[in-house]
Amino acid sequence: MEPEPTALALLLLGQQADPGSERGVECPGDLPAPSDPDLVSRARAAKEALGDRLFILGHHYQRDEVIEFADVTGDSFKLSQQAAARPEAEFIVFCGVHFMAESADILTEDSQQVILPDLAAGCSMADMAAIGQVEDCWRVLERVGVAESTIPITYMNSSAAIKAFTGKHGGSVCTSSNAERSMTWAFERGEKVLFLPDQHLGRNTAVRDLGLSLDDCVIYNPHKANGGLTDEQIRTAKVLLWRGHCSVHGRFTAECVDDVREQVPGVNVIVHPECDYSVVEKADQVGSTEKIITAIENAPSGSAWAVGTELNLVKRLAHANPDKQVVYLDKTVCFCSTMNRIDLPHLVWSLENLVAGNVVNQIVVDPDTQYWAKVALDRMLALPGPAPSQD
Ligand code: SF4
Repeated sequence: MEPEPTALALLLLGQQADPGSERGVECPGDLPAPSDPDLVSRARAAKEALGDRLFILGHHYQRDEVIEFADVTGDSFKLSQQAAARPEAEFIVFCGVHFMAESADILTEDSQQVILPDLAAGCSMADMAAIGQVEDCWRVLERVGVAESTIPITYMNSSAAIKAFTGKHGGSVCTSSNAERSMTWAFERGEKVLFLPDQHLGRNTAVRDLGLSLDDCVIYNPHKANGGLTDEQIRTAKVLLWRGHCSVHGRFTAECVDDVREQVPGVNVIVHPECDYSVVEKADQVGSTEKIITAIENAPSGSAWAVGTELNLVKRLAHANPDKQVVYLDKTVCFCSTMNRIDLPHLVWSLENLVAGNVVNQIVVDPDTQYWAKVALDRMLALPGPAPSQD
């Protein structure tokens, strides 16, 4: 079977829109200039005018200038839950990326409208698994005769369509804090797991948490016929890892860990499980953003930390913990470029439009996709153990 190509066009910022997708970059009307000295007062005035009708969510990886206006900050799942707990808020402005706004739309009331200030704020990892590619993969598994014994698990960082696919095929969503429980749950129901879309979280969970071997995991490459695998490899693998990764966490290498240990004696290295297996193996601690934040907040004064996650969060952690040394694990600066699409001009633009009665950049998940994605999310919520947190 020939693989389906990824059809995401590169667009000129602010000048073009992709008619085949909602990820265009045009902002109807006037986008304020980044140099406008009144941006902060304009954002404050718009927020005040909207009052309780508005609830602004700020993901941990957002810029400081945006976080300043967030009513709540957190990881994407927590943010969606907070929005669902505020049914009186008519407008949910999600300062995060596209899949997060979709999750918020799935979890909130129909009367609540979810807005993404810049539609170009996607997620490179989520974009690595298109629904057509995943359906092709499932057809391969059916032909090989293993689809019935395969349980799909998708990371929260995936499109609503992939979550819905997972729900329809008996699978569950997972976060970085409950991937182990999700995978264990899946192996209680099937012989094989198809893990989407982050190969690193899938591998780290299967090998480090479940005790499988690296050889039990194979990579399914959607750009190759049969995923680049033989039928025999598909039959014998325990975990099929989708060939996706996070472009930010993928920057950290084992050498980064060696270097920081040389430069900062006694440093504690803490990394996110979206990092490569070789990095995670060398780190002292591994965990979700919430775990990273808690570990550093609770660390003794004078301790040193090298953090392998997005730079906006690491900078804020360093600022909030002046009694500790908090450094970024990579030598070069790396923000999540799509998260950073949400800036003050886009926030002001979307808020002022709401004040004027125009709902711009609304993210709407169709009812069928919403239903099946919710099935997969509810399976995750029914897992035993603490409430999930993620990315
Ligand atoms: S940090 Fe990685 S996983 Fe998170 S939104 Fe950016 S690209 Fe996606």
